[in-house]
Amino acid sequence: MVVQTELAVIGAGPGGYVAAFRAADLGMAVTLVDEAAKPGGVCLYRGCMPSKALLHVARAVTEAREAERWGITFGEPAIDLPALRAWKNGVVAKLTGGLALLAKQRRITCVRGRAAFADASTLTVLPGSTATGEEVSSLRFEHAIVATGSRPARPAALALDDPRVLDSTSALEIERIPSSLLVVGGGYIGLELGTVYAALGSAVTVVEMTDSLLPDVDADLVRVLARRMNTISTAVHLGTTVRGLVPAEEGIYATFAGPAGGGGTAGATDGGRREWTECFDAVLVAVGRTPNSAIGGLDRTRVERDKRGFIRVDAQRRTAEPSIFAIGDVAGEPMLAHKAFAEARVAVDTIAGEDAAFTPRAIPAVVFTDPEVAWCGLTQTEAARDGRDIAVARFPWGASGRALTLDRPEGITKLVLDAGTEQVLGVGIAGVGAGELIAEGVLAVEQGVKASDLAHAIHPHPTLSETMGEAAEAFFGQSAHIYRPKR
Ligand code: FAD
Ligand code: NAD
Repeated sequence: MVVQTELAVIGAGPGGYVAAFRAADLGMAVTLVDEAAKPGGVCLYRGCMPSKALLHVARAVTEAREAERWGITFGEPAIDLPALRAWKNGVVAKLTGGLALLAKQRRITCVRGRAAFADASTLTVLPGSTATGEEVSSLRFEHAIVATGSRPARPAALALDDPRVLDSTSALEIERIPSSLLVVGGGYIGLELGTVYAALGSAVTVVEMTDSLLPDVDADLVRVLARRMNTISTAVHLGTTVRGLVPAEEGIYATFAGPAGGGGTAGATDGGRREWTECFDAVLVAVGRTPNSAIGGLDRTRVERDKRGFIRVDAQRRTAEPSIFAIGDVAGEPMLAHKAFAEARVAVDTIAGEDAAFTPRAIPAVVFTDPEVAWCGLTQTEAARDGRDIAVARFPWGASGRALTLDRPEGITKLVLDAGTEQVLGVGIAGVGAGELIAEGVLAVEQGVKASDLAHAIHPHPTLSETMGEAAEAFFGQSAHIYRPKR
């Protein structure tokens, strides 16, 4: 069967399904192609949702342990892995089932198969079939949106084909709890999944090649998380790379190259650096993601890719081929689901003839560790790099009543402000629930709110949201719960 459609969407992840849903809501005839039977993409099947379900479990385990400080002692947790997996998979199934229903209600034609371009207005789908079982061989479209996402990167030094070497997809399956786990990469995935496995009982070692965990994030925010990671991990090696992985019966031997004086057993030193080897029960490789832009037949169109493989797009998310748009992970960083959602709206509105552009002031980012780290808009690091005249106002959570009732006073809320106009340019939060709290920061940055607006807005008491208002008050010299002597 050859399907004729107004809009073909390739990939049913957060970018693709939101694009398809919006286009259908605007009255377009839409065909959504994905290899999976139901929409969801990486985010639902092997990304955001399963990882957050597991992080919720990790938090429950950790909180039960910490309750000892509050006078309540639970026994050691009995972890039933099949039940845990079933619960996590149930969450995913509910969500993907819900999306399939929403697609059906919108009368979107969902085609299961792998799409390739025959030319700039035709896709072939192999092996293609609709939800009702009709075969689809090709698809003629007026517009197409490429939302093919990304996959885990695996550099040569870490490309060992052994079931004990995990990527985020296999790690989320939690087939077993390794006695020791080496996490390569101190970014989002390494820290989130490292947190999960540490809570479940693995001895976790984190190795990060730069000098900081979350290297792009402001140091004061990272410090809050780093303290915790140092507590829950066996070791955190910064400025260290893995030279190679060698399998053995007893485990995977990893050879590290890192600064002399760093952790680990002694090894040869060479110009202030040294190499050493340790054995791990399993290894999780989390060193970034690669865009899925090697789509068959793309070279038969005018679509261009940059050096890293991202599809080049303009502010409307249009590629160099006018009928083809690209959104989500395949169209550039940050590789976040909500960035894909927002791009989907822009691309579809442009196709519908609206005057739309993707020009956000603030794309929030949240690392869902314990504590969470969240930020949006201008960071202090970016401001310093660009020589911008900013002021920074901080509120330490040790002065927050709510943080103390939660026994989590280690957090920090900070505002990055224009020094002249007191406009909020960026917000950073490290602490429990930072991912929920950052939403107020996003609104503040997007709407050009000033510190005085935030200070005057009444925040409910006792909540962690008060730290936003008090950080703004601190900008003016005093806030109720911190005292700074006048100079
Ligand atoms: P994807 O979700 O990658 O979906 C692309 C889809 O396209 C896939 O279903 C794929 O099968 C399909 N496809 C590819 N090629 C073809 C083809 N040729 N034909 C047909 N179909 C094709 N982001 C957040 O914002 N918050 C989080 O908490 C978060 N947690 C994450 C945790 C993990 C472990 C991982 C790996 C990622 C996480 N992310 C998170 C990132 C988030 O998952 C991605 O940014 C998001 O899924 C990107 O959406 P997308 O629509 O661009 O593509
Ligand atoms: P990442 O870019 O967040 O982190 C990778 C880390 O690995 C970096 O700190 C990098 O310096 C380090 N690294 C790279 N090569 C290395 C090597 N050879 N040895 C040691 N360290 C090395 O990538 P990720 O953690 O794989 O996640 C991929 C992307 O998925 C993220 O950037 C993010 O866009 C998305 N994601 C988002 C969330 C969330 O929103 N909460 C969660 C998971 C993933």
